[in-house]
Amino acid sequence: MAELRWGAATDEGQVRDQNEDAFVAEPLVFGVADGMGGHQAGEIASAVASNTLRDRLGEGADSIDLVVAAVLEANASIFQAAHANAAQRGMGTTLTALIVLRAHDDVPERLALVNVGDSRTYLHRNGTLERATVDHSYVQELVATGHITEAEARTHPRRNIVTRALGIEPTIRVDSWELPLVRGDRFILCSDGLVDEVPDHEIAAIASGIEEPQRAAEELVAMANRHGGRDNVTVVVVDVIGGLDPAAVVPAAIATGDADDTDDATMPMPRADASTTTTITTAVPAVAAAIPKRRRLSVGTFLFLLALALIVTVTVTLVAVVVSNDDDAPSPTTPIEATTTTTPLTTTTEATERTTVPRTVVTTIAPPTPSSSP
Ligand code: MN
Repeated sequence: MAELRWGAATDEGQVRDQNEDAFVAEPLVFGVADGMGGHQAGEIASAVASNTLRDRLGEGADSIDLVVAAVLEANASIFQAAHANAAQRGMGTTLTALIVLRAHDDVPERLALVNVGDSRTYLHRNGTLERATVDHSYVQELVATGHITEAEARTHPRRNIVTRALGIEPTIRVDSWELPLVRGDRFILCSDGLVDEVPDHEIAAIASGIEEPQRAAEELVAMANRHGGRDNVTVVVVDVIGGLDPAAVVPAAIATGDADDTDDATMPMPRADASTTTTITTAVPAVAAAIPKRRRLSVGTFLFLLALALIVTVTVTLVAVVVSNDDDAPSPTTPIEATTTTTPLTTTTEATERTTVPRTVVTTIAPPTPSSSP
């Protein structure tokens, strides 16, 4: 059985009086879920996610497909509960999780990493901290398309908007990676209550400085509270004690660079049999590797075309006004100001406001109907 050591800590923070985060930290399954929704529904959603992982993956899993299946099951459970109970309508949760995949035949034990939403898993290896997951958030899209920098993302007024969450739609795309067990690796799973308060270099300093995983988890939570603790904060630290020699493993940056430059085989791709997304790499994933280039291009192109359409519309309208004025005809009431003040991003996305949590799920997909669930 995989030689791991771990620790976990959670706190409601300095401002909130409820903790809608949940976590699981058992010998073969680790996860962090950050619930959203009013009337304690967020707590229900995150609890369903963590309990489903514990029930389905507590003994580890034989394949990454079974891990993704458990996440899809959690999604369906939350979705159905939300549509069966008015008080829980609109509830959802993020989920990031690390699961031991059992050895079989010639395949050794390894790890499955999954992510939906803006909770995050970091990998600390050889003194360097890397993000192992990609946030499904509005600001991450802006960073990926070059509209804002990472630093600007930290203080962006819309950084609470997530673009994927469990429970919002009947099915969900799950990012997933298969990773080797590498001796000395330290995984840090956390909710955005840590990420929003503590910059990566401070997380790295604690990851390097505190050897005992439980103490490291507690110190990270304490650090988030010292920085303001404006949100619930949850941290699970998992240390790999036995595994491959780290010297034999390809450095993370090189591995992801190659993956990004080669082809789409390692990128998240919709599968024919399910609307999930699975990325399988033996290297360490990073931000650039998990965002398909196609997507980055399409968003950029889309925005450009939208801007072009706006300019053309405004120009045509102005010309029409000038022409009609020249003719001394009654001036038409043209919505010029409305047209010019409309920004593409707000008009093309559909936002679902949450009542008690300043958290929003944005999806470009039409809202599902309750009758579509089995
Ligand atoms: Mn949160």
